[in-house]
Amino acid sequence: MAKVFYQALSKDYSVEDASGMAQKLFETLVSEEKISLAAKVPLKVHFGEAGNTTFLKSENYLGIIDSLKSRDIDSCFIETNVLYGGKRNNRTNHLLTAAEHGFTQLPIEIADGEVGQEYQEVKIDGRQFKSCLIASGFRQYDQMIVLAHFKGHMLAGFGGAVKQLAMGCASRGGKMAQHQSAKPFIVPFLCRKCGACKRVCAVDAIKLGWWSKIDHKKCVGCAACTGVCKFHAIHTNYLRFLMLGNFSEKLAEYSYAAQLGKKNIYLNFAMNITSGCDCEGRKMTPLMPDLGIFASTDPIAIDQACLDMIDKAAGKKVFSKGRETLEFAEKLGMGNRTYDLVTI
Ligand code: SF4
Ligand code: SF4
Repeated sequence: MAKVFYQALSKDYSVEDASGMAQKLFETLVSEEKISLAAKVPLKVHFGEAGNTTFLKSENYLGIIDSLKSRDIDSCFIETNVLYGGKRNNRTNHLLTAAEHGFTQLPIEIADGEVGQEYQEVKIDGRQFKSCLIASGFRQYDQMIVLAHFKGHMLAGFGGAVKQLAMGCASRGGKMAQHQSAKPFIVPFLCRKCGACKRVCAVDAIKLGWWSKIDHKKCVGCAACTGVCKFHAIHTNYLRFLMLGNFSEKLAEYSYAAQLGKKNIYLNFAMNITSGCDCEGRKMTPLMPDLGIFASTDPIAIDQACLDMIDKAAGKKVFSKGRETLEFAEKLGMGNRTYDLVTI
């Protein structure tokens, strides 16, 4: 049974306290589970969309960074571009947003390139996917420290370690494959025929004119074009996504592909527990007081432990949607929903 280490936050904790707790949990996990750390271990983070105020600040990670430094382990922040518009839709914007949000303590790697076009295919034997498009920057690492902000998510129900792997490690095309069962399309009356999308399309699937369109026979669904249109003329088919669904199973299969062959360490921060996720560029009010920080080598156990702790504290199921994702992921063999909680 997987161990999940946990420490509660006090009512009046400071960011230094949280950082120190994360460091203690990380070091306890490494020592108790006899984990050997690689020469370079990136921190998989989320920089928070511009306008979002409840994302996890980089100061929470200072203790872990110190711990790595004291062991002479190289590190960086690693993240992927998002599928939609906003301020993290390409590498340039992403680096600016990260710096504005205070992620200056380590170098930053955007794992799927300038517009999300760099990926490796990871073969799996899933029901939804036989091949997953994982950002190619992750290929060079055998180990990551996956730092997840545990909170709600509009489509997934909740977001923790499994979602950090599934969506957070997928290239744009991988994100699109999970988000809907359709390829992008152009809204002709919004298209200014600037040519930006055509230039990034590796398979020449875009035809510009009075009725600009994407040839879905040629389009491979890489989603690179969706990140470069400044005029919001390229969209993805969310209606089809809602109708065809299977989102939980898709998330589970992508998370499985993202962690294959890696000896990851997971830390979940049950702080700023909002109903929406850090991709939403808006202010949100947390649903409940902050709870604490969790650490484990099992991404399913740590997410289940967060859900259980939140339920216990609230006296009800706060995030009722999306729990089947953990069930699917467990069936794939990437972890276990039963766990041994060790409070430190
Ligand atoms: S990037 Fe947008 S506006 Fe420019 S040609 Fe493509 S669809 Fe049209
Ligand atoms: S049209 Fe299709 S293949 Fe071309 S960039 Fe867009 S998603 Fe990729």
